[in-house]
Amino acid sequence: MNIHEYQAKQLFNAYGIASPKGMFATTPQEAVNVAKELGGEGWVVKAQVHAGGRGKVGGVKVAKDLTQVAEYSEEMLGKRLVTIQTDHLGLPINSVLVEGLYPIQREFYLSILLDRSTERIIFIASIAGGMDIEAIAHDSPEQIMTLPVHPAAGMQGYQCRKVAYSLGLKGGQVKALTKIMQGMYDLFIDKDATQIEINPLIETDSGELLALDAKINFDDNAVALHSDILAMKDPSQEDDKENYAQQYGLNYITLEGNIGCMVNGAGLAMATMDLVKLKGGAPANFLDVGGGTNVEKVCEAFKLILSDTSVKAVLVNIFGGIVQCDVIASGILAAIEQIHVTIPVVVRLEGTNVEEGRALLTNTGLNIYPADDLAHAAEQVVALAEAV
Ligand code: ADP
Ligand code: MG
Repeated sequence: MNIHEYQAKQLFNAYGIASPKGMFATTPQEAVNVAKELGGEGWVVKAQVHAGGRGKVGGVKVAKDLTQVAEYSEEMLGKRLVTIQTDHLGLPINSVLVEGLYPIQREFYLSILLDRSTERIIFIASIAGGMDIEAIAHDSPEQIMTLPVHPAAGMQGYQCRKVAYSLGLKGGQVKALTKIMQGMYDLFIDKDATQIEINPLIETDSGELLALDAKINFDDNAVALHSDILAMKDPSQEDDKENYAQQYGLNYITLEGNIGCMVNGAGLAMATMDLVKLKGGAPANFLDVGGGTNVEKVCEAFKLILSDTSVKAVLVNIFGGIVQCDVIASGILAAIEQIHVTIPVVVRLEGTNVEEGRALLTNTGLNIYPADDLAHAAEQVVALAEAV
């Protein structure tokens, strides 16, 4: 789960991680009031969306006076922001963060995340902040430092000092960085985060260290344990279809292709998508209908798949283990009739009562293609999607 920058900065505040003073606003008037309250010579108006890369596309603007604060907020609020990290539709800007304008001396990168390959929590730091970390890793890997934290020993002071020296920090800054890293580590552990990213962490003209940007991801499987984090959820920043799917216990992710896939089990869904690709097609979605499939779930799954207008054919690949194939077949028939599915649907069933299931799907007068073999089913659905 993701949260907004202003929410992440509230958490930073609670964990002693220094960041600019600021507050979120949902109208230009509110934004002006925030700026007045902050005082100072200039402000930064920042679009609050669950994506980075805002600076490059007008989602972060420096306002020199209150008129500009109002103007930039007006420009942003109610619009959608498309950045390198969103899809082509972008994300709605329902609030802006207004904060003080800080004089930047240097920009660093600092993040903490779970590294699955080393099975450790690691810090990543770089002197090349403010930029895309993937690009730095690719072009100048020597500018990136990684620091694994031992699970038993926890984070050690000397590790923070090592990072501080590699960033060229001096004197009181070393202590300040240690405090920031300690705060990040505690926040990461307490709230079951999977990543906390500060890009950039800045050194101001007066040598102060501040988290200018803040991004936190939380472990979806743990978020139910943290009501404060759950309360920060903003469904407007998530894919409508994915939200809808969640209500019905379906695991759905929108993709770019034209072949709708309905599968039970995440592993089988991955394998099915791989096979569709192998046969020259492109999946329009990942969809795991889960173990206890019933008619309602199959119906909702079809509705979801068909709400994507790029879908030209559907591949159903269901293993009848707990639910028997004939029950699934009747569910598919009911769903196709109920919501008037007209595009071709290739169905591959396997498992208990498979013969009965296939019999039900044969000679139906509907646009259904029962298949007995997965490779063949994938070939068939690719051909059908191309023929449209
Ligand atoms: P994003 O990563 O989405 O582009 P950031 O919060 O990192 O957004 O802002 C982009 C850039 O804007 C920063 O790298 C920094 O140079 C500048 N910036 C952001 N907030 C401030 C601020 N409060 N004061 C001064 N400059 C800022
Ligand atoms: Mg940033």
